[in-house]
Amino acid sequence: MSVSPRKELGQHFLVDENILGVIGRLAELALEDVVLEIGPGLGVLTRFLADRVAHVHAIELDRTLEPHLQEALGDRGNVSLHFGDALRFDHGSLAPAPRKLVANLPYNVATPLVAESLDGLPSIERWCVMVQREVADRFFAEPGTKAYGAVSVLVRLAAERTGFHPVSRAVFRPRPNVDSALVAFRRRELPADFGWVKRVVGAAFAHRRKTLPNSLELAGLATRDRAAAALAALGRPADTRAEALAPDDFVTLARAL
Ligand code: SAM
Repeated sequence: MSVSPRKELGQHFLVDENILGVIGRLAELALEDVVLEIGPGLGVLTRFLADRVAHVHAIELDRTLEPHLQEALGDRGNVSLHFGDALRFDHGSLAPAPRKLVANLPYNVATPLVAESLDGLPSIERWCVMVQREVADRFFAEPGTKAYGAVSVLVRLAAERTGFHPVSRAVFRPRPNVDSALVAFRRRELPADFGWVKRVVGAAFAHRRKTLPNSLELAGLATRDRAAAALAALGRPADTRAEALAPDDFVTLARAL
């Protein structure tokens, strides 16, 4: 069966199966694992996972891939195929609940998918995701660097990196215009008020050229004076910008607003 990949859905299919071994190693797959795969595509990774873990939930947006997936998966009874948009999917309905997210993510929605999964998918303890190299670098970027942004703060508050592997564009068909990387991370305990911290972080980075007090006031989260006082308590001047604050500082700041 042939398929015409749909660019708008980020369809770059894995054609070099050697990379599957790297995914398996970085994901530390174990027989008792329940895995969530977002975007199974033609089912190459799905089949690899199904042969090594207890259960795989695979969520695919493109229904036209169903016959290809059925063919690739054969009669493997431990795969649940779900069709829909992973960004809108009711992940709480998945039974058994997934403990790992292992996926070659659609690049156009990789950042929101990972950011949402940090608190929206509390059963996930480990991630091993293939994303654009630039996005992988952003997840664990250091404060003050160009790559550091809202997603870096959130990922670093929720998780610690356990693995990284650059991936050549030659392993995909069609070949993408960008390099990729596999990045693996393990959940840390989330701050109890992560939802509020997330709002503060989102507002803080919404206007990169503005100071933090201005950004927070613009978002209606705090007055400029209150935000400046919270920064002062952190030993920071009122003209501090979001990219200067470390992830833990955002938790302290959010609690002081
Ligand atoms: N896992 C396959 C592989 O490695 O060969 C395909 C990976 S391809 C990069 C991304 C897949 O995600 C495509 O099959 C695409 O149709 C699917 N996809 C795109 N947006 C999606 C969404 N919002 N929810 C679920 N799947 C999506």
